Amino acid sequence: MLAQTGALSGTPRSPAVLTLRAWLDRLAATNRLSVMRPGVDLVHQLAAIANRLDGKTASFFPHPGGHTGSVVSGLVSSRAWMAEALGVPPDALVHHMQAAAANPRPWREVADAPAQEVVHSGAIDLLKLLPIPTHNEFDSGPYISAGLTIARDPETGVQNVAIHRCQISGPDRIGILLLPRHTDQFFRKAESLGQGLEVALVIGVDPAILLSSQAIVPLGQDELAIAGALRGAPLDVVRCRTNAVRVPAEAEIVIEGRLLPYTREPEGPFGEFPQYYGERADRHVLQVDAVTHRTRPIFHTIVGGGLEHLLLGAIPREATILATLQRNFPGVQDVHLSLGGVGRYHLYVKLKKTQNGEGKNVLLGAFAAHYDIKHAVVVDSDVDIHDPAEVEWAISTRFQADRDLVIISNSQGSKLDPSTDRGVGAKMGLDATIPVDAPPMKYRRIAVPGEAAVDLQAMIAPGVDWHAALT
Ligand code: MN
Repeated sequence: MLAQTGALSGTPRSPAVLTLRAWLDRLAATNRLSVMRPGVDLVHQLAAIANRLDGKTASFFPHPGGHTGSVVSGLVSSRAWMAEALGVPPDALVHHMQAAAANPRPWREVADAPAQEVVHSGAIDLLKLLPIPTHNEFDSGPYISAGLTIARDPETGVQNVAIHRCQISGPDRIGILLLPRHTDQFFRKAESLGQGLEVALVIGVDPAILLSSQAIVPLGQDELAIAGALRGAPLDVVRCRTNAVRVPAEAEIVIEGRLLPYTREPEGPFGEFPQYYGERADRHVLQVDAVTHRTRPIFHTIVGGGLEHLLLGAIPREATILATLQRNFPGVQDVHLSLGGVGRYHLYVKLKKTQNGEGKNVLLGAFAAHYDIKHAVVVDSDVDIHDPAEVEWAISTRFQADRDLVIISNSQGSKLDPSTDRGVGAKMGLDATIPVDAPPMKYRRIAVPGEAAVDLQAMIAPGVDWHAALT
């Protein structure tokens, strides 16, 4: 298949995994899928098991709570798994995401889709139709946590994809949290025209679609086209049965509906990625019109704060933040959103510095790249930014707080960070780079000649007792 074009052609790759079921086959064949006994309890027990296996294997729950459908969690809980699903080496993952966002591939519409094998319209009862779990102790009830909200711009028809948390508020009613980004902008446009916003919630898709849904790209750029570029082939989509939204044809489950204008109802609390509860407040409301799914559908759930949750946020953001920074600072070589920073709040930047003062300019650029970024550290190119101990080493030996610290008060941050004042908080930037005119030996890292080249197998004498070796 000659599927590669443009910037993607430089990335060596094997074929991307094209469906959720194909990815489950791959995980199962390599002992990375734990299949539970049928009938696990949807309330807490399912999430408890998924959390215990987080980062070790994905969890598959046949027929939990007596449902005909099944649940899966922990699909992409490491960087290496994500790279494998996209068919690229792990160190090419961020570059591959970046290239896909820059070279999107429009989707292709098909008439028949597995996602519509079974169609429910009329009276809908979500909790009867779908195995929807309740995760954390104080969650308000069952939530759809891995549903892709696909919406259309009411004026242009261009689509947007995002994941929003969705509380089951009634048989055919969903409370949905819209943060101030693209779905919200479409909704404001529709509401100002006195209309609702047509949407689809899509549950159970392949890793490329999951990742692309989290890309930080401008309004008007369709994330499903990024998925096409990541996969190396246009994504097949199908028109919803009750509205004009186009959804991935291979999806497991699609909930069709409308965000209601001038309507807000209580939603929350819900256990979120920072490992705190998102608070209860009046939020947007989705009225369900239809549910379609595959026969014996697989419901994907993301348990809040787990590796899947953190990495799905971090990796696409890294790609887009890197692209944003490199436009202004060609010396920026890599960025990393750390797990301790919940994959959103702590950014490490690797800079090949050429001008004194540049580190601080990069910090200011980093805060502008996404409002979630709260603490940023810029280090030199000899520091491994994927290793928190290396970043801490750079801070401990190259940073002086009275000279290298930037603090910006009262700026926009994450509403899910409990230490902010309803999303308004401080930014802190640490410039841990060395001066370009520093004397050469002052910051020279110690090194033992030949260390990396030592052949340990050849040097170690196996089974030799040290007493005997004395003589
Ligand atoms: Mn968007």
